[in-house]
This record gives sequence, C-alpha cells and structure tokens, in this order.
Amino acid sequence: MNDYVLVINAGSSSLKYSLIHAESGEAVADGLIERIGESGGHQTHRGPDGETENSDAIASHEDALRAAIDAFETHGPSLDDLELAAVGHRVVHGGSKFAKPVLIDDALVAEVTELVPLAPLHNPANLEGIKVARRLFPDLPQVAVFDTAFHQTLPPHAYTYAVPSEWLEEHGIRRYGFHGTSYSFVAGQAAQRLGRDLAEVNLIVLHLGNGCSAAAVQGGRSVETSMGMTPLEGLVMGTRSGDLDPAVHGHLARELGWSIDEIDKALNSKSGLKGLAGENDFRELSRLRGSGDAKAQLAFEVYCHRIKKYVGAYYAVLGTVDAIVFTAGVGQHSAEVRATSLQGLERLGIHLDPVRNADPADDGLVSTDDADVAVLVIPTNEEWEIARQALDLVRG
Ligand code: AMP
Repeated sequence: MNDYVLVINAGSSSLKYSLIHAESGEAVADGLIERIGESGGHQTHRGPDGETENSDAIASHEDALRAAIDAFETHGPSLDDLELAAVGHRVVHGGSKFAKPVLIDDALVAEVTELVPLAPLHNPANLEGIKVARRLFPDLPQVAVFDTAFHQTLPPHAYTYAVPSEWLEEHGIRRYGFHGTSYSFVAGQAAQRLGRDLAEVNLIVLHLGNGCSAAAVQGGRSVETSMGMTPLEGLVMGTRSGDLDPAVHGHLARELGWSIDEIDKALNSKSGLKGLAGENDFRELSRLRGSGDAKAQLAFEVYCHRIKKYVGAYYAVLGTVDAIVFTAGVGQHSAEVRATSLQGLERLGIHLDPVRNADPADDGLVSTDDADVAVLVIPTNEEWEIARQALDLVRG
C-alpha cells in the first residue's frame, strides 16, 4: 500500500508543496512557487536530483500547480510511479465547524468559502489551492486540514470574549486559535520524549516562528491558546503586534483619521519586531542587538517578557505542568529567547541547563535532570502532520 501524500499550502501569491511519506515523515520532494500573478515568478523544486530553480512568470495558482507537476515529471520523483494516496491541504480557518480533517467535496468548498470573513487574508488562497488541485488531480481524495481544528477542544470560558453575547451567536466572534497542526505534532512528540502517554501529560507549547503563539495542552487537548479570532492576538510576532488594548483602534481612527484597513495593515504587517526594531527576521534582530542597537534590544525584551507572561498564565490554567516545549524557527534555534523568557521561574520548577540549552541534543531536553518541569526543544513538522491526518482519514 502506498503512503505518499502531496501536501499543499497555498498562499495569496505563493504555493508550497511537499511530497511526504506519511508513515516515516520523509519529504521525498518539496517546492515553492512565489510571485504568482507578478511579472517574474520564482520556482524551486527539490527532488532526488537535488534542487532546481526557474524564474518563468506564473499567472495563476493553476499555472503554479502545473509548474509543480512539470517539475515532478522533469526532475522526479515520478508522481505516477509513487501512486499518491491523497492530497492534503492546509486550510487556515475552520471556524467552529471543523474539529477534524475533512474530505473535500463541493459542500466543503462552500463551507470554507462561508468562513472567508473570519480569515480574509488566508482562506481565499487556501480555497484557490483546493480548487486547482481538484481540477488537476480529479481522481485523488483531497483532504482539508484546518489550523484551528486542534483548538476546538477549548472550553467556553477560554474561547468566549467578554463582549455582547450576540457577537458570538450571530457573527462567530470568539477565540479559535491557530498553528493547530504544529501543536498536534509537537504534543505527540513531547509525550514520546517524556516516555509518557499523551493523555497523561500537561504541556505548555510555544510555537515561535514568523507567527508566534502559545497553547496549554492537557492530555493532548488544547485548553487555552494565545491567538484569537484571527492570528493577530497574543505573543509578539515578526510583523504582528499580538495583544493590544482594543481602544488603540479607536484612538488611531479618531486622532489620526486612519481607516480600519490602515489600522489592520499596521497591526498585521508593520508591528511586532518589525515595528519596534525595523526588522522581523530574528537572526537579523540578533545581529542588530549584537551591534548595540537599542531598539533591537527593547524589541527582544518585549518579545521575551510577553512569552514569560503567557507561561505564567498557562501554568495557572493547567495547575501542573510536565513540560514546556519550544518549537518553530525561533523556538528551536534561539537559546537566548528560551533562557530570557524562562528566567526567574525557578520557583515554578523550571530550571534550564545552560549547557544543554546552548546546543540541544537530539532528545531536545534543555532543563536540568532534577527540574520538576522538563523544557524541550522539538522541531515542528506541519507537513508531516497534514500528511498523516490526510492518510488516516482516507484509509478510514
Ligand atoms: P518559521 O516561521 O518557523 O520558519 O520561523 C521563522 C523565524 O525563525 C524567523 O524570524 C527566523 O529569523 C527565525 N530563525 C530561523 N533560524 C534561526 C536561528 N538559527 N536563530 C534564530 N532565529 C532563527
């Protein structure tokens, strides 16, 4: 039986794909097509023969997927020989409707379309990816895996905002949370590394990439998470503000005459580390700090302070914590972020081992042996998780 799944992550002007062996997680090929609809495109494809590049213009998502299929034909591996089991699509927003992956049909496309107002930046692009993949792979089962699904276990007291109740009932305004496939993957890995059953462990997981969020995971179920109705709430991110007094919006509108769209754009793409220090790439931020840049230093401190506040809050939510897990680009690679955000929490049983933290070993353990709370560094793998969930669904 073949276990290969083509995982597609369609953005507004990009299409990312990975061909994953769902059992082992091996990515036998992957690629990225960028600048769709612009005058010059850019495609990379990595297969058995190494990486190839091309800069032909790509007019649409359909052309992008055709270019990916061509790359498989020219550079391998052959999709025909592999006999794909399914196509798995990352879909950002599943609203309150989807707590699990779903087989895609016309009704599902209509339902995801209805959710566009909740995720106007993401769901339309995800839908475009689904539509073209259904056209180009008409005989393959296609599965939608939602970023929000893992957090559908949040209890009402965690997902309800204290606003007029009809906002939730009539407009779906509540916390949904995101990065769900990452949490699902990392929580499973953490339990394995602790040698415990996932159902028995309490975890605080910190997904720190370009987008950043935290989740409290109790027995494998998300009980609290920092992103909200949209991915804007919570931790400081590369370009997003995270938590902010909601009255700032009114102030900017009244005092500066800004439109809602201008405010939205400023908070989503000009804030966070970029807004504070002019730089959203964490490696570049570290370089600026190293050269004595005061703004970069402040940005780093705001970023870590926010993480610490969430760790404390989620500790309180969970009552007991077996492990704190760092994942995604910054979480996995920045020893300084881990050390600074957990500094001073020794009374909570959190003790980093500086030598382990500086260069985590394969087991990912960076806390001391006698610490009550294990601190783990675990690389996330959202593509593998999507492939696994898609295969599980189509195999029944
Ligand atoms: P992700 O969204 O998971 O790909 O993470 C992207 C973020 O991780 C960017 O801010 C990168 O600068 C950051 N990152 C990647 N590698 C490193 C590294 N070695 N040290 C610090 N930050 C890193």
